[in-house]
Order: sequence, then structure tokens, then C-alpha cells
Amino acid sequence: MNIQYGMPLARLTTIGTGGPARAFAKPTSLGELEQALAWAAERDLPVATVGLGSNLLGADDGVDSLVLRLAGELASVRAEGEMLVAGGGATNAVCLHQARAAGLGGFEFACAIPGTAGGGVWMNAGAYGSDWSHILVRARVVTAAGSGWLTPVELGLSYRHSELRHGQVVAEVEYRLTPRPPEEIKETVSALVAQRKATQPTNKRTFGSVFKNPEHELGAGRMLEECGLKGHAIGGAVISPKHANFIENAGGATTADALALMCEARRRARERFGVELEHEVELLGEIELPPD
Ligand SMILES: Cc1cc2nc3c(=O)[nH]c(=O)nc-3n(C[C@H](O)[C@H](O)[C@H](O)COP(=O)(O)OP(=O)(O)OC[C@H]3O[C@@H](n4cnc5c(N)ncnc54)[C@H](O)[C@@H]3O)c2cc1C
Repeated sequence: MNIQYGMPLARLTTIGTGGPARAFAKPTSLGELEQALAWAAERDLPVATVGLGSNLLGADDGVDSLVLRLAGELASVRAEGEMLVAGGGATNAVCLHQARAAGLGGFEFACAIPGTAGGGVWMNAGAYGSDWSHILVRARVVTAAGSGWLTPVELGLSYRHSELRHGQVVAEVEYRLTPRPPEEIKETVSALVAQRKATQPTNKRTFGSVFKNPEHELGAGRMLEECGLKGHAIGGAVISPKHANFIENAGGATTADALALMCEARRRARERFGVELEHEVELLGEIELPPD
């Protein structure tokens, strides 16, 4: 298996920021994945898996880990009766396409979530009242010590959260779906995508929602809008003029720029609404949201 050194995280994330990964590999089978995990274990190197990097901010200094992106068999999808079986690296777009072709509904909610099966499990990603915990039967989780299948309860799935930790690789998932005519699936998806385009910056470089929605009558986006943050910029990062819970890379943004915007947003939400916003985006490398 080919190991590359110094792959920029900016090339592995949708926001397009982040420094080099010490090592990078694209295992295409369970055997290659096991080899990669053994390679890292021999060197005491931590392992982190990325999907489409659509919910990820990587440190500008890079990450001292083996970063994996699953490919080949580990990104393939097939329907088996009412189950959809997908590699951890399978994109939601391909899963949705295969589900529709097989006349299986229930995955439509993920049509505007630009990630992979593994990223969906890690985040318990969701939209429109559904999330991964609704459809996931079990996930095969592989570590350097071995492999096993975990249920949603064992994965600890809750709102945009699982108990997974780096080094645990979601290599395969099984989704239970329900029969639905492909035409109906298509109609639902078209309506949801149109709704997304109208309200969110779908054609910009972002990492999706910055903050989780707090327990408050206002969602994070409306709160930050009321704080006057739409269009607020630091360096190359700007709070989306379309939806205040998104940060866009307007050109040349760094992770530090995005973090500085997040601090400012969190401070203003605290001062105005007395709410402590919790970030939804995952941080990779030696970074954390600094205290403000
Ligand atoms: C325009 C836009 C809209 C979005 N809308 C939504 C939305 O409606 N709802 C929502 O929930 N999210 C949304 N997101 C965020 C994001 O798409 C989801 O969280 C998605 O599930 C992340 O998947 P990913 O494969 O890109 O994961 P990544 O961003 O690559 O990684 C996220 C985390 O998962 C881990 N991970 C990824 N793959 C694996 C694996 N195979 N094994 C173990 N760990 C893994 C990573 O290490 C990281 O910690 C949006 C993002 C964008 C850019």
C-alpha cells in the first residue's frame, strides 16, 4: 500500500484549509486497511480517518498522524433486499443513487449532506427530522487490535455525536431502508435540494454547520444573524451572508481565520443570548477553540 508524506489537509477538506498530514494512505480493502493500521501501530503513530472532509477543520500546522481515506471496496455500495450495504468511504450521493435504483426509501434526508457513510456514523449526521441512528443497523469498526460490528446503541449515537474515537475506522455499514418507488424518491430529493439551495451557501467552500443548535427557541444560525454577524470576515474566512451558521472560505482562508470567527460568534451569542454555543465541526490536529 502506498504511503504519501505531507498530504495537505487543505486537499482533504471541503473548506480547503489545513497543513500537512505526516502520512496519508487510501486503503481499498479490509486487508489494506489492516495493513495500514499495523503500519501506524508499529510506529506509534495515531490514526485519523477522513471522509469527504465536509465537517472538518484541520490544524494549519498539520497533523502528526496517519490519515486514511477509504477507497475501492471500502467505498462501494450494494443493495441486499431492504438493506443497503456500504463501505465506510461510500459517499452519501452514491448511497442515495443506489437506494433509489433499488427502490429503497429512507435515505432521502441525506441528499444534501455531502459526506460519507463513515462520517455520517461518526457525526450521527442528520437533517429534516432524521439521522443516521434511524437507518443504521450496524457498523463494522476496525482498529489495530481487530474488528467488530457495533449497533447504534453501542456507538452511542445522539444529536450530532457518537462515542467513536480516532483509530476506530468505520469500514462498512448496513442501513435498513423501506421500499419506495424511485419516482417518489426523486421528487422528495428535488424538493429538499431546492430548499437547501434557497437557504444555505451550497456553492461555497464551507464545512457545514459551525455550531450545534442550542436548546433555545432560536437556532444557531438565527442567533448569529441577530448578533449582526452575517458577512463578518477575518482574514479569508467570512460568516456566510446567506446563513450565519456557515463559514465560507472566500479565498486564502486559514484554519486560524475560521477559529477566530468561531470565537467571535461564540462570544457574541453568549453576551446577547446567554447561550454557550458548542461547535459541530470536528477539529483535527493540535487545535482547539481558544477561550475568548
Ligand atoms: C454544504 C454542507 C451541508 C451540510 N449539511 C449537513 C446536514 O444537513 N446535516 C449534518 O449532519 N451535517 C451536514 N454537513 C456536515 C457534514 O457533511 C456531515 O457531518 C458529514 O456526515 C461528514 O461526513 P464526512 O465523510 O465528510 O466526514 P469528515 O468531515 O471527513 O469527518 C468528520 C468526522 O468523522 C470522522 N470520520 C470520517 N470518516 C470516518 C470513517 N470511515 N471511520 C471513522 N471516522 C470517520 C473524521 O475523523 C471526523 O472526526 C454539511 C456540510 C456541508 C459542507
